[in-house]
This record gives sequence, structure tokens and C-alpha cells, in this order.
Amino acid sequence: MTRGTTLIKGGWVLPMTDREVYDGGAVLVKDGVVGAVFRAGDTLPEAETVVNATGCVVMPGLVNTHCHSPMSLFRGLADDMPLASWLNEHIFPAEAAHINPETVRAGALLSCAEMLLSGTTTVCDGYFYEGEVAEAVVETGIRGVLAHGVIDFPAPGVPDPSVNVEKAAAFVEAWKDRFSLITPSIFCHTPYTCSEKTLSAAKEACRLLGVLFQIHVAETEDEVQRLKEERGISPYQLLDDLHILDESTLLIHNVWMNNGDMDLVARRGATASHNPGSNTKLASGLCPAQALMDKGIHVGLGTDGAASNNNLDLFNEMQVTAKLHKAYSLDPVAMDAWTVLEMATREGAKAIGLGGSIGSLLPGKRADIILVDMNKPHLTPTHNPVSHLVYAASGADVRDVFVEGRQVVKEGRLLTVDVDSVMAEVNRIAAFMG
Ligand SMILES: [Zn+2]
Repeated sequence: MTRGTTLIKGGWVLPMTDREVYDGGAVLVKDGVVGAVFRAGDTLPEAETVVNATGCVVMPGLVNTHCHSPMSLFRGLADDMPLASWLNEHIFPAEAAHINPETVRAGALLSCAEMLLSGTTTVCDGYFYEGEVAEAVVETGIRGVLAHGVIDFPAPGVPDPSVNVEKAAAFVEAWKDRFSLITPSIFCHTPYTCSEKTLSAAKEACRLLGVLFQIHVAETEDEVQRLKEERGISPYQLLDDLHILDESTLLIHNVWMNNGDMDLVARRGATASHNPGSNTKLASGLCPAQALMDKGIHVGLGTDGAASNNNLDLFNEMQVTAKLHKAYSLDPVAMDAWTVLEMATREGAKAIGLGGSIGSLLPGKRADIILVDMNKPHLTPTHNPVSHLVYAASGADVRDVFVEGRQVVKEGRLLTVDVDSVMAEVNRIAAFMG
């Protein structure tokens, strides 16, 4: 027996390295990384801990490429309205009134708990008081690419916007190489809420610090139209003129893109986060995700914040993605289950700069692994586990979750924090809203 090893055996193993299912396979975890993946019939090594995965899918943890985790505080606070009214009349005022370090910590803890319980092992997040989000990440044991938000007006924790980039860079310096599960980053809100000077300074800080630059782009037709009228260019051209588009830039939403924009993004190697749940609820439109992928752009899935989705369940997001693109293109072959599953794992990992360490069960990668229990009426019979993951399963079917080899969810229960007390604290804060 080898100390510190875990063998997860039985079930359907989906390494996500190729489009293969190893029925009756196994995964060896050693020192927090994937040691080996076995097919049925292979001789299995002994291990200190053995997890019986019979009846489960064993696969890489899901990667949420876009979230504002503390916004779970505003879940269901304002629905069924245009993005501009939702943001300006509800969300910005609610943030001004209720966002402080204590509430950010509570909302982030709730979101991290929700994500881990529904099979998400990595979240790419951006908000204010992001240091509190980092503490919630440490406490819950999820993996995070975390960014302090940059916007050119007074924001929670940054009353003076002239130091917004400085604050964001200070967050990166505080968390760089400090905790293995946290990769810091910088997040500019949009090209219309950040000046060119701010955008350039933020990207320059990212380059100096060697971190990912994130930005919401072309979420609504209106913002694209306004820039076209004012400057005669698209937001992608604006970002390119500022030398912001490169392999370390994550573009979020990308609903209103033309072919030239897509070619430009592909040429520069920037990546994309597709958020169909949020984009359709706010009636922003649908990102041409298949066209982006056809051009070689890495596209991951994101939930966006719970205020515009309204949950953080990536299984739900996968199903929405597969069905929406079929309906939109009138093509039942569009966005097949494998493609969507890859977006939620391997491609998402690449989109946020972690393709070398997570997103598939390749030996040597971090052991971020989930077990999805197929022994449920709505998942019976299992002709094709990949079909079930995209079209029939939900986050509630996740049984066990490992992050960097550490088990954080067991039999559907979070082991790291007391979920009841997290919910009680959020309910206490929510009682002052509305
Ligand atoms: Zn967002």
C-alpha cells in the first residue's frame, strides 16, 4: 500500500483527454495529482484509500469560467428586465448599500459551497473586496482564478477610482504564489465603464505580474452600437488598438461579434467565456460560440453571477448551451454533448490559463475529480453517460468531489464548511435588502 494514495474505481471514467469512456475504469490519485488512469481489466495498484465509484461517472471537476461569487446575495432580487435597468436601477444601488467585506465573505462562501456541491471545482471570479472571496476559497477548498474588479467610478472598497488599477494589482501581489488553489488575476468591468487609460494600465499590470486579464465585452447590442457611432470601431478593435488582445486575455460574453471580430480574436489568441444562461435571461442574445471554436478560440462555459442566472449549476449551463445553439441554428447536430462537456472542462481550463494543470484526467495534472451518481430514476438506463451529463443530470447528482486530491464533498455533503450556518448568515444579510 502506498501512503497518500487514493484509488477511485468502477463506474464510467471520462478522462476528457479524448472522446472515450472507460467503462469499469479507475483513477489513481497521488500527492494531489492524477497518478494514472486505468481501463477495465488493467491490473490496479493498491492504495491507502479506495473509493467505490460503481454506478458513477468519474470525470474532471467542472470549470466555471465566469462568476461574481458574492452576487449570490442578490439572487432573485431583480428579474425580468433589461440589463441596463437591472444593473443601474437594482444591482449597482444594492451593491452601494450592502456590499462590504462581511457580506462579500458570506456571499462568496455560499457560492463556493453551491459550486462544490454541484461539481464545479474551479471558478474564475471577479468582484470587489476579492480578498474576502480568496478567504472563502481557502475555507471551502475550491480552486479559484480570482480578480479584483476595476471600474472607473467609485466602487465598494475603492471609493477613489484613480487608484483602481493599483488596488487590483495589490490584490494580485498579495495572493500570488501564496496558496496553491488561488491564481490571482485582474478584471476590468467593460470597455465602456473603463477608460482607455484604465484598460491599458490594467493590461500592463497583468503583463508585469504575469496574470490573466479579464473583461466583459459585447454583452449587449446597445454597447456595441454606441461605440460604433462614437468611434466607428467595435469593442474588439478598441481592445486591440490598446494591445490588450493576447493569449492571456479572457473575453466574457461576446454576444455581438462580427466575423472580423472573431478573426481578430483568433489571431491574437485571446480566449472566451460563454454565459448562455445569463445572456438569455437578460435577453442580450447568444454568443456565436461554435463559430469561435471553429476558428480555434478556446471557449469555456460560465454561469455569471447568481443575480442574473439564477444559480451556479454548470450542469444546467451545459444543458442550456446544447439546446439553445440547436434552436438558434435550427440544426440538431449543433453543440453535441461531447463538445459541451469539453467546454465545461478541458476548454474552460484553457480559457482561464490553467489548461496545463486542470480540465482533464491526464497523469500529472491536479486531481480535481467529481463522481456523478447515475443510480437515479432520471438517469436510468445509462445507454450513454455523456448524454446524461448534458441532457439529464443536474448538480444535485454529484456525489463526491476532490480538489487537488483532497475530498471536499462526500455523499453529497460538503466537508469543509457548515452549509447551514453559511445559509443562515446570507439570510440574515438578505433581510436588510429589498
Ligand atoms: Zn459578469
